[in-house]
Amino acid sequence: MGFSIYNTLSRSKELFEPLAPPFVGIYVCGPTVYGDPHLGHARPAITYDVLFRYLQDQGYKVRYVRNITDVGHLADDADEGEDKIAKKAALEKLEPMEVAQYYTDRYHRAMEQLNVLPPSIEPRASGHIIEQIELVKELLERGYAYESNGSVYFDVDKYDAKHNYGRLSGRNLEDIRTNTRALDGQSDKRNPYDFALWKKAAPEHIMRWPSPWGMGFPGWHLECSAMSAKYLGKQFDIHGGGLDLMFPHHESEIAQGCAAGHEGAKYWMHNNMITIDGQKMGKSLGNFITLDELFSGTHPLLTQAYSPMTVRFFILQAHYRSTLDFGNEALQAAEKGLQRLLAGVEAIDRIVPASESTVRINELEERFEEAMNDDLNTPIAISALFDWVRTINSLNDGKGSLSSKDLESLRRIFHRYVFDILGLREEATPINHNIVHPLVEMLLNQRDEAKKRKDWATADMIRNDLATLGVKIRDHKYGTDWEMDDKFIII
Ligand code: ZN
Repeated sequence: MGFSIYNTLSRSKELFEPLAPPFVGIYVCGPTVYGDPHLGHARPAITYDVLFRYLQDQGYKVRYVRNITDVGHLADDADEGEDKIAKKAALEKLEPMEVAQYYTDRYHRAMEQLNVLPPSIEPRASGHIIEQIELVKELLERGYAYESNGSVYFDVDKYDAKHNYGRLSGRNLEDIRTNTRALDGQSDKRNPYDFALWKKAAPEHIMRWPSPWGMGFPGWHLECSAMSAKYLGKQFDIHGGGLDLMFPHHESEIAQGCAAGHEGAKYWMHNNMITIDGQKMGKSLGNFITLDELFSGTHPLLTQAYSPMTVRFFILQAHYRSTLDFGNEALQAAEKGLQRLLAGVEAIDRIVPASESTVRINELEERFEEAMNDDLNTPIAISALFDWVRTINSLNDGKGSLSSKDLESLRRIFHRYVFDILGLREEATPINHNIVHPLVEMLLNQRDEAKKRKDWATADMIRNDLATLGVKIRDHKYGTDWEMDDKFIII
């Protein structure tokens, strides 16, 4: 059985058949970098990271493109007169790229903590203004866009007459028409549901570029169409993103791409949303939790800190198309589950090989890969691993046996599934320097005394016991250096 994906376009699971195997192109909508990374960023990042890892594991050569939306709607809110602003030094003014860089770095750091691999290409919207302007020109030439007062809009009615607007989200134009309110200041549009391809910049809008239609900035949906076509081609394999982006963002991407002659993505994948104690996450509800707050336990809704791997494991324990409710009890259960799984991986090394096996390793491979092939069903794949942790523990208790060849396979398979595909890893244990440092120094002094007495047995014992605890020591002419193992982080 091959790998199947639930395609939002057909609303069914489809066998994954890449357009040009073994190459696979994936485009995923990345973060808007005007705020700290939060829980809502973790789920798509981890979902598509596992997709990226699994397809590579299955032998595909994957180009994974995940963009950075840095063409924000940042306004210079200093309400000073022109003169005062002109007098200000350049460094005192808000430089939007500095803000975008700051949050891009914060996002990257959080992704690294969650062990999310960097994508193959991470294009920034601001670096692709030329491509976006070209796409707007193309849409104007083809008659699917119109210019109005320095802005350019997509003509949804015109498009819908030939193609079907709403085919991804399953909405029809009539519903959209009745549910779209005309907002103030949008009188430039022919219809309230027409979306901007290029927006004229208001005076306070500081991120702006010259274009054939005047100073402005691209509409939000445009960047993904322009950058996916540039790096993956006008037709590519998989487009992913959060369910909240399906309408209007992805629907508009399909419409403008199709109108410009792009065939677009063959498979559309959407990860479901995260709720907190059953409620939607939102700044106004007071339950907006950043990843930093989660990792440090500093948000009032959290009873403790949750490590990045606990969060990753928690997310993978639900199928990506189900909603996922964050709560302290569920996170604590995930923390324990992860410890049990990692202890299981370590316990493989304690199994004593026998001449023959009483258990079949293939059973694990079949179950894990069948689950992953079924639209990335990570919870089922993880339950297969847990069953095998029980088997590993029984083997260590002397119930059953494994040949040395099977034992080696089991170790290799577990490492591949747990670390390479699910992307979990051992986390460093925080240790307090103020306590550890004097204790290690005290033991090293005792070792020095032993050496002076020529009591080599005691000196060696201290060295070996420290090594077992993760303290490596090195003797020099003038004394002894020591350092902690990588599995500890000094705080
Ligand atoms: Zn997008």
